[in-house]
Amino acid sequence: MANVIWISGGACNGNTHSFLNAEEPTVVDLVTDFGINILFHESAAPTYGEQSKKLFHDVIAGRIALDLLVCEGTVITGPNGTGRYNMLLGRPHKDWIKELAAVAGVVVAVGQCASWGGLPATPPNPSGSMGLQYKRNERGGWLGADFKAKSGLPVINISGCPAHPDWISQILVAVATGRVGDIQLDQFQRPLTFFKSFTQTGCTRNQYFEWKSSVEEFGQGTRKGCLFYEKGCRGSMTHSSCNRILWNRQSSKTRSGHPCHGCTEPAWPFYDLAPGTVFKSQKVMGVIPQDVPEGTDPLSYTLHAAAARAAAPQWAKEDMFVV
Ligand code: SF4
Ligand code: SF4
Repeated sequence: MANVIWISGGACNGNTHSFLNAEEPTVVDLVTDFGINILFHESAAPTYGEQSKKLFHDVIAGRIALDLLVCEGTVITGPNGTGRYNMLLGRPHKDWIKELAAVAGVVVAVGQCASWGGLPATPPNPSGSMGLQYKRNERGGWLGADFKAKSGLPVINISGCPAHPDWISQILVAVATGRVGDIQLDQFQRPLTFFKSFTQTGCTRNQYFEWKSSVEEFGQGTRKGCLFYEKGCRGSMTHSSCNRILWNRQSSKTRSGHPCHGCTEPAWPFYDLAPGTVFKSQKVMGVIPQDVPEGTDPLSYTLHAAAARAAAPQWAKEDMFVV
């Protein structure tokens, strides 16, 4: 049995919706087979109002064990540091978070907003939003850089907008089965098992990426050309398993013809959504990609790309998946 409190801050609740679509295992499996005991969830709460308040106080006082605190959405600190833009059970949500996190065995941030701040923390950030242990790229956030849960782990960031449902449910399984110590984290506290590879790993457009063959227009066949060169795809520099663990066991953004926006990375949304930066690859002097695959630099990449493009075979310009 693992007691879980799932609490929501500045968010669209997309991670709750995503979680409800989990397949391996499903939410029902988590409850019936893995002993996940959801004490509180704002959309599917087994308790309400005064009951919930009493529950929270019992948890904070140590009368009820809290194995896992799941936080969705940003911690809202506005206006003027009071947190009163987001009240929960008569208190600022931010204050509950701090006290619950202090007694939790494991603390998980689900989604981009809880991990780093996401869209709400994009300048001018009127709600004073931040992530649990990060403020975009900067370590710290609401709980502070030195925070560790009782298990000794910092906040586990299951990033993404939203996080993939199976990334969430499989971390819950690790907690429920006492295997949380096996979770290895990357430099941004994301579980390596989901975030070591790139979105590009498993993308059906990789062969076009290799030969620098570009999609020219959206709708130009679902699997013809790579979206990196013109459409702003960040799949080669974004850590995610979206093309290894498919969404709904069916597809991914890039498989369906949509560029990866890099929603699992702390700096997302890139360029702070300035006009002309979404669905468009940014270039220096009109030709050199400003953002290049991780581990290379713009000039080396441009030289490599020019050689590959010159050597590209005819098939690399065609749809390989005609049915
Ligand atoms: S850049 Fe994007 S579309 Fe191209 S291969 Fe990588 S992930 Fe796929
Ligand atoms: S493909 Fe990219 S933008 Fe889409 S969910 Fe995965 S990491 Fe996020």
